[in-house]
Amino acid sequence: MQDGTSVFEDLESQVRIYCRQWPTVFSTARGSRIRDEYGVEYIDFFAGAGSLNYGHNNPHLKQALLRYLQEDSIVQSLDMHTTSKRDFLQAFHQKIMAPRGLDMRIQFSGPSGTTAVEAALKLARKYTGRRPILSFENCFHGMSLGALALNPHAAGEMAQLCPHTIVARYDDESATVSHCLASVEEILSGPDAELPAACILETVQGEGGLSAARASWLEGLAGLCRSRGVLLIVDDIQVGCGRTGSFFSFEQSGILPDMVCLSKSISGYGLPLALTLLRPDLDIWNPGEHTGTFRGSNPSFVTGTAALDFWQDTAFLDGMSAAGMRLEEESRSLAGEYPDVMSGVRGRGMAWGLVCRETDVARSICERAFTNRLLVERSGRHNNVVKLMPPLNISEADMALGLDALRKSVKEAV
Ligand SMILES: *Cc1c(COP(=O)(O)O)cnc(C)c1O
Repeated sequence: MQDGTSVFEDLESQVRIYCRQWPTVFSTARGSRIRDEYGVEYIDFFAGAGSLNYGHNNPHLKQALLRYLQEDSIVQSLDMHTTSKRDFLQAFHQKIMAPRGLDMRIQFSGPSGTTAVEAALKLARKYTGRRPILSFENCFHGMSLGALALNPHAAGEMAQLCPHTIVARYDDESATVSHCLASVEEILSGPDAELPAACILETVQGEGGLSAARASWLEGLAGLCRSRGVLLIVDDIQVGCGRTGSFFSFEQSGILPDMVCLSKSISGYGLPLALTLLRPDLDIWNPGEHTGTFRGSNPSFVTGTAALDFWQDTAFLDGMSAAGMRLEEESRSLAGEYPDVMSGVRGRGMAWGLVCRETDVARSICERAFTNRLLVERSGRHNNVVKLMPPLNISEADMALGLDALRKSVKEAV
């Protein structure tokens, strides 16, 4: 194994992280299974941190992509009009926005999620003429400076480069909704001149430990923002595209954000694509005011269009909700079996976290899982939450294999 990984150690920057917990070299993957060069097969409960919601190399998406490439179609086009972009816009409108009564403009911001966040922050500041942004404890919105600034704690040494952030308390099931909204209420009751331009949040904190906001907290937050003219931005980069059981994570709560950031699974195939949805009257950009070379990745439009077919496929939708119930049930029963080790579970839909009392235990569960041929990562400020995010269309058999490996790993780790 040493031979296969030494190149990375010799040549690649130390900044790499995921490879450290999975010290092998991956080569092929299909659905919920990923294989390394040595022929070892793992069940994937990581799913590219939410960028592979439809599984690896989904055949429906792959066919569309191969056909597209075979015909010498446009690959890169900045923001020129292309056939594949038109198809994506129409499909997104017809299959996602129209059935949900959403009227929003679509801005392609770049290849990565952080660009969608930057676009939203810039536009909120331009539109309101105000600078501060309200964010929440343990949030994660990306690594470019504007997005990084939203979590001064995580920004570490870069924190001095991160002004104009106001951090509020996130929802927490152990307290009442009004108690949890008090810090937002206080911030928004300040003088008009000090109001934030926008409030940005994840409805389930993907990197922050799977805390899931209650619908009533989201409603309360949306009401407070609306009453003070503070724009509400939902960062659905990780928990959108079906992760919580509906296409957008905020659907069940009934709130209507002013902007929505999407990336990770929006291309469906693991190809780079990010976009920001805007209330039409917010679209006050001048042409070229926020630009970027890779906003026209046509292969991403092609697979992204094909992926939207699943949102009209009842077998997919039923399978996803059954899988979500199974994952929740098993997570709860596991946490219940080890009360000394785990304080409980957090999450929604197909994103669940086992909250361990000790960081070290969470680490050994994930290490044992790798030996037991299951990929799971950790999340949370203290890295103490074992995060379970299988592909949404995982088969019952693979779900069972993954859960067995998880149970075995917990048993071995405690
Ligand atoms: C991953 C993520 C981002 C950043 O996306 P990148 O593609 O890594 O830039 C932003 N917000 C959330 C909620 C994320 O999970």
